[in-house]
Amino acid sequence: MARIHSNLTPRPKTKPTLQNIRISFVGNDPIGFSQWETFPFIAAVIEKLAGQTNGFASDSEIVLGMTQDSALGPMLAKIVAADPKKRKNTDWAAIMMAWFSQKMSVGANSHGKRFERTDTQPVGYRLREAVAPLTQTEALLEFHNDGGESTHDKFQDWRRANDNGLFINVKSENNAMLHQSLCPHSGNTYFEEGAEGSLTNKLKICSNNREELLNWAIRKGITLKLCRDCKP
Ligand SMILES: [Zn+2]
Repeated sequence: MARIHSNLTPRPKTKPTLQNIRISFVGNDPIGFSQWETFPFIAAVIEKLAGQTNGFASDSEIVLGMTQDSALGPMLAKIVAADPKKRKNTDWAAIMMAWFSQKMSVGANSHGKRFERTDTQPVGYRLREAVAPLTQTEALLEFHNDGGESTHDKFQDWRRANDNGLFINVKSENNAMLHQSLCPHSGNTYFEEGAEGSLTNKLKICSNNREELLNWAIRKGITLKLCRDCKP
């Protein structure tokens, strides 16, 4: 009942940040955030460290950098505080880095196009020279139901907080369309996941920067269609 009520009440317009996240545990798994939300922050840490060394940042340097990051550090502290197994923040940073790396290697993470990984030990990452670095404000957010966890509500939160934003609906590897945040194709921003389906069964790439979205499609080799109704 409380959930229904909270969804009828307009939520405050705040930008989604890792600071607002509340972490709890179901068994050994933290809930309250999706791994996709952490990727732009992890990418920023790698970018900073690789930039400092002008070469590869090692896995252990990245893990340490994540614990010291102004966004990821407090989030890791919340996870540690709630973790029934009391694993350390460096353990959790390593777990997140493993998600990032795994998604990068299967190409499901657009950051994979920005970084390259060493094949030799120790594993390290550096920026690809050809790709201009994204600033954090321009970073792309990805919402996708992944590993059974729904990101529908977080995508809806993003739409409400970014009503001038744009997103790409990725229908398949070669079929994607650019929409305005509030395009009616995705229903209203309070439409809940249910019998009608989930907005994030298909990957959504979101940004307030149109050019970054167009660049994302170019990097993926996708010819982006523009929605005829919302005319993004
Ligand atoms: Zn549209």
